[in-house]
Amino acid sequence: MSRVRLLSDTLASQVAAGEVIERPASVVKELIENSIDAQSQSIEIMIRRGGISLIRVTDDGIGMDRDDALLCLERHATSKIRTAADLATVATLGFRGEALPSIASVARFRLTTREKEAVAGTEVIVAGGKLETARNGGEAPGTQIEVRSLFYNLPARRKFLRSENTETRNIEHQLNLQAIGHPAIAFSFLRDERVVFQLPATKSLRERIRDLLGSELLARLLEIEPAARAKIQLRGFIGQAGVSRGTRAQQFIFVNGRAIGSPVIDAALKEGYHTALMKGQFPVTFLFLEIDPAEVDVNVHPAKREVRFRDPAAVREAVVAAIRRTLESDRSTWQEQFRGPPPTDPPFVRPEEPLPAALDPQPAFAIEPAEPALRDHRFPPNEARPAVPAHRFQILGVLNKLYVLMENAEGLVLVDQHAAHERILFEELRRRMEEQGVPSQRLLLPQVVSLPPRDAEWLERNLPILQKMGLGVEEFGRHTFKLESLPPFLSGADPARLLQDVIDSLKSASRSTSPLRLGEDMIAKTVCRHAIKANDPLRQQEVEKLIRDLLECELPYCCPHGRPTMIQISLGELEKKFGRKV
Ligand code: ADP
Ligand code: MG
Repeated sequence: MSRVRLLSDTLASQVAAGEVIERPASVVKELIENSIDAQSQSIEIMIRRGGISLIRVTDDGIGMDRDDALLCLERHATSKIRTAADLATVATLGFRGEALPSIASVARFRLTTREKEAVAGTEVIVAGGKLETARNGGEAPGTQIEVRSLFYNLPARRKFLRSENTETRNIEHQLNLQAIGHPAIAFSFLRDERVVFQLPATKSLRERIRDLLGSELLARLLEIEPAARAKIQLRGFIGQAGVSRGTRAQQFIFVNGRAIGSPVIDAALKEGYHTALMKGQFPVTFLFLEIDPAEVDVNVHPAKREVRFRDPAAVREAVVAAIRRTLESDRSTWQEQFRGPPPTDPPFVRPEEPLPAALDPQPAFAIEPAEPALRDHRFPPNEARPAVPAHRFQILGVLNKLYVLMENAEGLVLVDQHAAHERILFEELRRRMEEQGVPSQRLLLPQVVSLPPRDAEWLERNLPILQKMGLGVEEFGRHTFKLESLPPFLSGADPARLLQDVIDSLKSASRSTSPLRLGEDMIAKTVCRHAIKANDPLRQQEVEKLIRDLLECELPYCCPHGRPTMIQISLGELEKKFGRKV
């Protein structure tokens, strides 16, 4: 007995809709993308009750004639590709001809459309995939699609919808993506009869970001420095070091104009920000990647939300390099913030007046010099480094044995001495490690350490990396190792525990990272323990040296864990606090 049967068109569309249309935000995405493909200059989106009760998208694009208005509701009806070859170079956002029939099969659907020159437009009404009305109408040029009662005929799907608020948030995220991706198109958004935004068309991404997300965020973004003659071009904006969010909500990524999510790019962003991002935080990015369409497959995800790169490693490298370059480009602006106020404007005492005792900054600094050996490693010698250019800065004192207070033209600068020292030590050690491997110091008594078999195997395979990191370890019998030397900055530690720490932290680092980068994680942990602490009193020269060394760092803005090293409080903010200004 034959059992195989063809599904009816409606049922086939409902099945397809299961993949393409997950929630109201998917409808919004598909409709806006169609409007964009139809060369619209202005798109209006209106939703009611999280899009569950109504989604309406109105555009001023090329519109459709009567035949197309009917045909576009058939499955696999598209004007965008004709042959398989077109698929390889597709430049439109849509290409499958699946969205409209899918939407129309799971909602009450109304389409009105008119081509610019046509005398009359067309109105088509479909409910749950069944055509109800098709008639001529005198609509405005362009297309309007209304989607009501989403999933009304599929109670099982409707149950999976989240609260109106959550669905609204998803829709807003989708709108943000589309608006950021297409600054030249005007967007307006109405939610439950209220205008949420009206974005004018603009030539620049910068203005679109400002109009959508505000100038405060814009001020904390850096424009991506373009790379010359690269096969993969990157442009856009990324957050300065220290600008981050608890979610990916402000991580906008576009590949050839298409908004996508990509584990490859997510990982590259994390790597690019590396020590400039706190744990569990996500960077803010408006990242536009342009790549030869033949190098990327857009036809891998039902909602076209993901793409596949032919050479993911190249994409990763391009992104990491662009992020690094851009973050480092911010350095001179950042250094400027340390420049003291003009000399005509002395700090709180005039030079001819004696320093009043209460204001004497001396007591804030160390009374007793610490023991010399300790001091040495706290401020590692750096003969190898280029002479430090004279930075003119104005130190006022140290607050709570932790925050270095400084004055600049803007107002007050606070530096966290621990975070700053961590950053300095971190870069110092990394530089040494890259140049020469970390020097190691022989232990007076070599230590023999036994390890559990799995750790022992791991250690055997990674001995060269450990040696590069200054750990002189040798095999010494089965599952046993002899530790003969250590990098000087680790000399105080208990060797057995140290070895175990190193193994644990290196093992948990991801596999794709380079050996030196593995070393970095360890360095970051190590310097944290060895950097001057809160409560470590410093003398004036030490504070000065600390600031000078910090200013020389590659990524001075944050410690290796991504916490800021410095905070600026402007005179304006102080005036507000004192009620001098509103
Ligand atoms: P796809 O976008 O993959 O082609 P859709 O089902 O989304 O498939 O749309 C089917 C077709 O309907 C499109 O190829 C296009 O020709 C037409 N169409 C859809 N929306 C619009 C619109 N807003 N303006 C003009 N034509 C449209
Ligand atoms: Mg489409």
